[in-house]
This record gives sequence, structure tokens and C-alpha cells, in this order.
Amino acid sequence: MSRGRRGLALGLTLALALPLGGCAVWDTPSASSQIFVMDTVVTLTVYAGDEETAQDQVDQAAQALYHLEDLWSVTDEGSEVWALNHGGGAWVDLSPETVELLSQALALCALTDGALDITSYPAVRAWGFTTGEYRMPGEAERAALAADIDYTQVELDRENSRARLPEGMELDLGAVAKGYAGALLARQLEEAGVTSALLNLGGNVQTVGEKPGGAPWEVGVRDPAAQEAENLAALSVAGLAVVTSGNYQRYFERDGQRYWHIMDPDTAAPARTGLDSVTVVGEDGLVCDGLATALFVLGEERGAQLWRDHPELDVQILWVREDGSLAMTQGLEDSSRLNEQLGAREVTVIS
Ligand code: AMP
Ligand code: MG
Repeated sequence: MSRGRRGLALGLTLALALPLGGCAVWDTPSASSQIFVMDTVVTLTVYAGDEETAQDQVDQAAQALYHLEDLWSVTDEGSEVWALNHGGGAWVDLSPETVELLSQALALCALTDGALDITSYPAVRAWGFTTGEYRMPGEAERAALAADIDYTQVELDRENSRARLPEGMELDLGAVAKGYAGALLARQLEEAGVTSALLNLGGNVQTVGEKPGGAPWEVGVRDPAAQEAENLAALSVAGLAVVTSGNYQRYFERDGQRYWHIMDPDTAAPARTGLDSVTVVGEDGLVCDGLATALFVLGEERGAQLWRDHPELDVQILWVREDGSLAMTQGLEDSSRLNEQLGAREVTVIS
């Protein structure tokens, strides 16, 4: 995973209440902006030779995100995703960014044997996650929804930059879009000469280079069980993405049970595999994002097997089980210093 200024420097380190991303950077000119886009709070921090340049880069990154939201919003009638979902089965012309995202998303759907399935959207909506008006679809409704989830029905014609899907089916790119957006922004910043930036797209973290001064970024991994946002661990990374899918990010409770926004495409119900969260670390933000969602659906055992079967993915994984214990892939092993304030935890190393 190490290449140039990319790498997983120290693995997990003590998190405690460290101000993440801070430290030894105060004399480097920087700009930071917090915006609401893609249905989440995004914080963009860029370091540069002077403040004006840094601000300019932050502004350009923000504009790029608004543009991507315009393309990929599932609710905005002007978006390309909307056109696909309401195209009545006809071909819809797509911009290069959407072609790329759709193409890579479909490849991940196949790689994960449909644990990631971008056509899960009708199920997500049926449970009320698109509006916040939560409900519990009955068995027959869920069976009908599950029968219609099938990413193989999405036809992508790369040559002509267009796609279509059968009438009645709908897709959403929410499981991969933020990771891809982070990766795109990182590439644009690097091309503009930026060597140090931290992009946090609602928990999808993309780092550019190292912190000014050469230390790795420390990216916190949330404790899913904590009432207040509290970090279970911190990952020291440079130039990598760190993406978490968890059952604490969007959920409702009924009769003491929690129901969350990550669907098992086989059942059209929230995926319940004994996990509270999965964090994926790697070079490709889109892959990390798509895998985090898929690995949550697959559960630890099948996820670990997928990781073993696909070394080319070049990712490391941290699973947080619902009993609070952890599993992590070997590359994170040196790292076992966790936030001791949260109590001792059993850690399984996956190799
Ligand atoms: P993430 O936060 O990246 O794990 O993505 C979750 C979002 O992706 C949800 O809010 C849904 O819009 C969508 N989604 C839910 N379950 C799946 C699934 N199994 N495959 C693909 N997308 C999903
Ligand atoms: Mg995801």
C-alpha cells in the first residue's frame, strides 16, 4: 500500500481526545470550509504556500462537489440519476464522471456478488430513509422489493456515454459517491500542486499527502456504541482514504430494535450481520466506500474471505462487532493501541 507519500504509517494509535489532523501545522497557510452537500456535512481543509491559494483551492473543491451533487442527486429532478430512474427504460446520456462512477460501482457490485447493489434504492425508500418518515415494510412488500433489486439489469454503454435500466427499477449511488468525490477532489488538488489536504465528506475521509511538516494524518474511527461522537481508534495515514459504514449513521428505533440505512439486497431489510461498523482504508476512495457498504452487508467472515481472495484491492479493514470487540486485517496489526478510556477490547487479527 505504500507508494511515495502514500501509506498507512503507524496503523492504529491511541486516539483519546486528540484534535484530529491538528498539531505542528499552525505555521503553514491554510483554508478550511464547512458546507452541506450530498446530504452530509463536508469539511475541506487545504494547506498551501499562501492563504489566498489555499482558499481558492477550497472554493474550487466546494464548487466541484456542488456540481457532482447536481449530477448524482437521487431526489433532484435535474440530475442524471433522476433521468435514469425516470427514463422509462430509454437510454440516458451521461457525463464522463457519471459513466466512470457507474462503471466502477457496477464492477464492485459484481465483485461483492451483489452485497453492494446500487438498485437497492426502492428498499431504502420503502423503509423511509429518503424522507425520515420511517416505516417497516411487511414481509410480502419486502419480498417484492428484493425481487426487483438486481444491478445486472443496469446497462451501461461506455462507448456512447449512456445508460438505461428497466422501467420500475431505480438506482442510487449513495454507497459510492462520496468516496469517489473525495478521490476526484484529491486528484484535482494534487494536479493543482497541493501536497497537503484533509477532505472529510461526512465520515468519508480522503487525505492528500501528509500533514504539513511530514507527519501522517490521524483519522478517527468512531465508536459506534458511544452516545456522543467518540473515537475508538485513530488511523495514521498519508494519501489514503478512510471510509466507514456503520449502523449509527442513519437509523430509527422501534420496540427497542434499531433499523438502519444499509440494506441487505437479498431481503430488502437492514443488513444484520453482527456488526456495528466497517472501516476500509486504501488508495482508491471509491473502492473503499463501496467496499465498506458491501462488507457491512457480508458480515465479518464472508468479508474476510473476500479480502483474502482479492489482494489486488489493496485495502485494510477494521470491523467493529456489535459486542464491541474488533477484528482487523494484518496491515493494521501493529496498531493495537486503542482508546483505552473506552475499555479493553478483544481484537482478532485477520490474515
Ligand atoms: P454508505 O453510507 O456508503 O454505506 O451507503 C449507504 C447508502 O447507500 C444508503 O443510504 C442507501 O442510499 C444506499 N444503500 C443501502 N444499502 C445498499 C446496498 N446494499 N448496496 C448499495 N447501496 C446501498
Ligand atoms: Mg459506502
